[in-house]
Amino acid sequence: MDIPKNHPRYESLLLREKIKDCLKEGVLSEVGIAAHGRGEAFDYLLGEKTTEEADKAIKAAAIMICKAETPVISVNGNIACLVPGEIVQLSKIVPLKIEINLFYRTYEREIKIKKRLEKYGATTILGIGENANESIPGLDSLRGKVSEEGIFNSDVVIVPLEDGDRALALKKMGKKIIAIDLNPFSRTSLCSDITIVDNVVRAMPKLIEEIKKFKDKRIEECIEFDNSENIRKSIEIMKNNLIHWEEKINER
Ligand code: ATP
Ligand code: MG
Repeated sequence: MDIPKNHPRYESLLLREKIKDCLKEGVLSEVGIAAHGRGEAFDYLLGEKTTEEADKAIKAAAIMICKAETPVISVNGNIACLVPGEIVQLSKIVPLKIEINLFYRTYEREIKIKKRLEKYGATTILGIGENANESIPGLDSLRGKVSEEGIFNSDVVIVPLEDGDRALALKKMGKKIIAIDLNPFSRTSLCSDITIVDNVVRAMPKLIEEIKKFKDKRIEECIEFDNSENIRKSIEIMKNNLIHWEEKINER
């Protein structure tokens, strides 16, 4: 479908087209569309732009990723659909491992996602078929499957759009978790060490830029970062937007 560039929801409609195509391709599961819709609603409340708080979280995340020993990005259908190029770029510049980790795991979909990432230049992709040979304690067998070379032995896991149960189980294993999640109330957001409340399509390129900056400087850098405070401020931004829209209605 041709979306007119001057449409007020142009970017959002473009993403919907991508989601639709990925569903057809089999990269995305049907429930992935529902997850996207929940994200859209929160993005609307956020004002559909990267906030100052998200920028702070991205900077803290970049430092944590650069200092990690065995960082991994956990990839599901939604992010393989929306930011395949950025996943591969991130894996090369850090470097870090890519692991496919699906809530609705089927071998067929693992292969579809692998092919999509390979098209964007990925070479090693973990978590496919027999490679998911370990399990996260406390989860049922299918949802708990992970790769020993990847998430199982990682110290930092980036989980864009992760399910709350799994994020909590990873946290219990002692991992440091970086989430990118538009829903500041989700269990994933609340249990993570760093929560980037932003759309993955905006946050991932910024995260890559921050990592490049950090690497160029080659100096030890620490920033103070309080995740609860950051989430609280993101909620406040949404609240203020709601108040603003309410006032506009009252003015009519
Ligand atoms: P939890 O299971 O952690 O309590 P949840 O039920 O809200 O949270 P899920 O439905 O399991 O979360 O996962 C999808 C999450 O991903 C949603 O919170 C949604 O807001 C978020 N999300 C969807 N699309 C995007 C996107 N493009 N960028 C960032 N976050 C997104
Ligand atoms: Mg959930």
